[in-house]
Amino acid sequence: MYLVKNLINGEAVASTSGWESAIFNPATGEQIGTVGLSSKDEVNAAVAVAKAAQPAWGATSPAKRARVMFTFAALLRERADDVAREISREHGKTHDDALGEVARALEVVEFASAAPELLKGEFSRNVGPGIDTHSERQPLGVVAGITPFNFPAMVPMWMFPMAIACGNSFVLKPSERDPSAALFVSELLLEAGLPAGILNVVHGDKSAVDTLLDHPDIKAVSFVGSTPIAEYVYRRGTDSAKRVQALGGAKNHMIIMPDADMDQAADALMGAGYGSAGERCMAVSVAVPIGEDTATRLVDALKPKVEALKIGPSSDSSAEMGPVITAEAKNRIVSLIDSGVEQGAELVVDGRDFSLQGYENGYFLGGSLFDKVRPDMDIYKTEIFGPVLSVLEPQTFDSAVELINEHEYGNGTAIFTRNGDAARKFSMGIEVGMVGVNVPIPVPVAFHSFGGWKRSAFGSHGIYGPEAVHFYTRLKTTTTRWPEGISQGASFTFPS
Ligand code: NAD
Repeated sequence: MYLVKNLINGEAVASTSGWESAIFNPATGEQIGTVGLSSKDEVNAAVAVAKAAQPAWGATSPAKRARVMFTFAALLRERADDVAREISREHGKTHDDALGEVARALEVVEFASAAPELLKGEFSRNVGPGIDTHSERQPLGVVAGITPFNFPAMVPMWMFPMAIACGNSFVLKPSERDPSAALFVSELLLEAGLPAGILNVVHGDKSAVDTLLDHPDIKAVSFVGSTPIAEYVYRRGTDSAKRVQALGGAKNHMIIMPDADMDQAADALMGAGYGSAGERCMAVSVAVPIGEDTATRLVDALKPKVEALKIGPSSDSSAEMGPVITAEAKNRIVSLIDSGVEQGAELVVDGRDFSLQGYENGYFLGGSLFDKVRPDMDIYKTEIFGPVLSVLEPQTFDSAVELINEHEYGNGTAIFTRNGDAARKFSMGIEVGMVGVNVPIPVPVAFHSFGGWKRSAFGSHGIYGPEAVHFYTRLKTTTTRWPEGISQGASFTFPS
């Protein structure tokens, strides 16, 4: 049993609030650790440290700040296995999947190393007689990040490398269910040369989040998590005049056109539907076959693959997916599967009673596959966030696009086809933020930005990439005159 501490001003500090939360190994169901939940005072103290440290960091040359990110990237690469183990121990995902998470986070750190280029301003000479104007982007001050359980290292690193490279200090509140990986990578960033106080980690629950949202010294909040909390964070944060980006849940559809390569589409659905036990905001949870024949061929291709899924703990290198995060998550997923059966969907593969020898108390589920799912069913409307794939009753191309556009979520979507016209029409007309054409999980690379539409994201900026530079900085425009000679006298008309 271990205790997860806060990281304040470069030091590991145990919370003295007396509140704590248990951390479980999802593969065994055993409690392996405890995380102290910070009080309001402890969060305030972290913000005060971040506020005191920021001006010097903000005034440090962007090239020096970037050098810290270069070293951090090198350390992350060197320690990728250790980070992946930290992730898997508390989250349960397979080691390879955790390594993939580290690799995607590393891309963001590499992009953040380009801060000197990204922060370059604009200059216009002679906007008036003897007058020049330049625009620059300045850091905001202290910013906060609040992150979910499903990518315990990557999502924090979607945020703090960019915020810090832009000259801000950062207070991170990771998920209390698997807090160790975020702490581990934060310590690596300090090891890379980040001055103490620029990145602080406070663990906690709603109370810590509310303290950050209301704190007058926090200028911006990046949030990733479920939609109800994202909306709450957005409203409460913007109420106190903060800049907020709040990314929420998803229900990602993949259209399979009659001309698609069915093997390729089915394999893509397996990885996108069941990888990480379906606990990804970019997981594909709805397959939309176009036409009866496509639907039949699709389910025939999927069924044996779902039945053959290799499920195991993260220590099993042959496992394709691990357990889900908690016993409550498992129960919730099972009751959603029950509702699908009750509401008339055809459960082609039933993963509810899956049990793994030696891990009977783990939170494992088998892969489940539904066919003939209708849009009015709960399994269609709700984000299940588990290893459950729904094949919708066959659609036409137009009805499929209409359904996707009507869904409350708009995070990711994909189309599998050989038809360029259909693909182009799809990517132009679909009301979803991230679109894949023959790519099942179209998570943008770090030099583009990530973000959904509709109730999958609140706020106007995507996360990481060029949008992050705008989110974590504010524009200042200076107009300068070095006039020759003396004043030409007061002018009371608007300057033109
Ligand atoms: P969650 O919303 O339960 O928790 C996210 C964060 O909010 C955690 O740090 C948690 O401590 C905090 N929180 C929880 N309840 C709160 C409350 N009442 N008030 C204030 N703060 C609260 O999400 P989760 O279960 O950890 O993560 C899974 C969800 O995250 C899924 O819905 C998934 O789609 C979503 N997600 C979205 C993206 C994206 O990019 N859009 C990426 C990853 C995960």
